[in-house]
Amino acid sequence: MTETQRPLPHATAWSAPYWDAARDKRFVIQHCTDCDRPIMYPRRFCPHCLNDTLEFRPSEGRGEIYTMTVQVAGPPSGFGDRLPYVVAVIRLDEGVQLMSNIVGDDRESARIGDRVRVDFETVEDGQTVLPVFRLERG
Ligand SMILES: [Zn+2]
Repeated sequence: MTETQRPLPHATAWSAPYWDAARDKRFVIQHCTDCDRPIMYPRRFCPHCLNDTLEFRPSEGRGEIYTMTVQVAGPPSGFGDRLPYVVAVIRLDEGVQLMSNIVGDDRESARIGDRVRVDFETVEDGQTVLPVFRLERG
């Protein structure tokens, strides 16, 4: 039987600053220096004006759940020990979206439209830190 492992991100030359910042528990968003628009996920060229002078800027990592699902069961995978887990598309306050996990003991009560804030999860390899999100309530 093949052992399944949780897939981890592979940094590229243009996404490395994003993952390096996450390792330092900082959340950053790529921006185009020409049209000044935010870009998510990290790319080599601005998808709006094709400029290649992009930079990473700090973000508070706040936003809301655009859509989500709670995974309660599934075939053997690298995520089996995390069940139930929440996969969500987060619409950040800057206007860009990313897919991530909602974490925390209250994660199963998450609903579309809930406010969330970034947190950071160090994965088993000890080298990779993933931006994840927690519900902002109260
Ligand atoms: Zn641009």
